[in-house]
Amino acid sequence: MKALVWEAARTMNLREEHAPEAAADEILVRVRHAGICGSELSGYLGHNALRVPPLIMGHEFAGEIVDAGSLVPTIRPDLTPGALVTVNPLWDCGLCRSCAAGLNQLCGGRRLLGAHRPGAFAELIAAPAKLALRLPEGMDTRIGALTEPVGCAVRIAELAGDVAEQDCLIIGAGPIGLLSLQMLRLNGAARVFIAEIDEARLAMGDALGGIPLQPRVMDTVDAIMKATEGGVAVSVDAVGTAATREQCVAATRPSGTLVLSGLHEETSAMPVAAMIRSEIVARGCFAYSPANFARALDLLGQGAIRLDPWIQEAPLAEGGQWFERLIKAPGDVSKVLLVPGL
Ligand SMILES: [Zn+2]
Ligand SMILES: [Zn+2]
Repeated sequence: MKALVWEAARTMNLREEHAPEAAADEILVRVRHAGICGSELSGYLGHNALRVPPLIMGHEFAGEIVDAGSLVPTIRPDLTPGALVTVNPLWDCGLCRSCAAGLNQLCGGRRLLGAHRPGAFAELIAAPAKLALRLPEGMDTRIGALTEPVGCAVRIAELAGDVAEQDCLIIGAGPIGLLSLQMLRLNGAARVFIAEIDEARLAMGDALGGIPLQPRVMDTVDAIMKATEGGVAVSVDAVGTAATREQCVAATRPSGTLVLSGLHEETSAMPVAAMIRSEIVARGCFAYSPANFARALDLLGQGAIRLDPWIQEAPLAEGGQWFERLIKAPGDVSKVLLVPGL
C-alpha cells in the first residue's frame, strides 16, 4: 500500500509499505479522509518525544472497513466489511482506575494510533475494533474524520462547566479554538470572545459567531476588562504559551474557570498569587473520554458543529507540502484532510 512516512525532521515521503493486517480483535480500514493535527506539526518538526521516525502519522480519520479479525463478529457484530467508521485513536488498557471511571484518555498505559503504531496517512490502517464507531447513516467520511478534534472541544466545554448566559474567552483560533467556540455557544454562553493573531483564522472565529480580538492592535486583557465586569466566567487557552496562559488568568473574573488545553510550551510561569486571590479554578484538559468522542460524532451528524468552508482536501502524496504550509502560513484553511484516493 501507499503510505506517507515521516522519516526525519521536516522530511515526509510517499512510500510503498507492507499493508497492515487486522489481529483477531481488530478491523482493517481503507482510509478515505485523514486530518492533519496540530500536535503532528510539532512532531513533524522533531519537537515531540512521543513520535519517533520512521512513522506513519494520522489519528483523525474515517474510512471503510475492508476486513475484520476472527473475534470481531462476536465482540462487535456491527463492524462488517463495507461499513463506514471513525476510530478513537487513544488505545487504552481498559482495566485501570481511569478506564473504569470512563476517563480512558487518562489511562497510564494509553497509546496513540499514528504515534505508537502506524496511523492513517496510508491507504490502510489496522485498529482495535473496540475503538471504532460507525458513522451515522448518510454521513460522509469527510465529516466523520472531524470526530477526533470535535471530541477535544466537547471535553473542553464539559470542563468549562455551566456557561449559560456567561461571557467566555478563547485564545487561539486553530481548529480546537474554533470548535470550542461553537461548543460554548451551543451550551448557551452569552458572548464568546476569541483572540487570534492570524487574520484568516480570526475571520473564521468571527464567522462562527465569536467576538474577534486582534492582539496585534489591542491588548486582549484590556479589551476583556473594558467589555465585561471584571473578566469572563470561563477562559480557554487553546495555544499554550506562557503569554496566553497569563492572559487567560488575567482575563478571568474572580472564582471563574480557566481551561488549559494548548500544549505549546511544556512548562511556563503562572501568576499563581493572582489565581489564589481570585480563587480561579484552573483545569488541565486532555483529549476526550469515550463518551465525549461519541457525543462529537452525534453533533457532527446533527450538523451542529463544523469546520466547513475551511476544510481543504489534498492527495496523500502532497501531505509533506501541506505540513510545511500549515507550519508557515496556512491562510484560509483550518483543517487539511489527506485523501489516499485523490
Ligand atoms: Zn488530533
Ligand atoms: Zn487504563
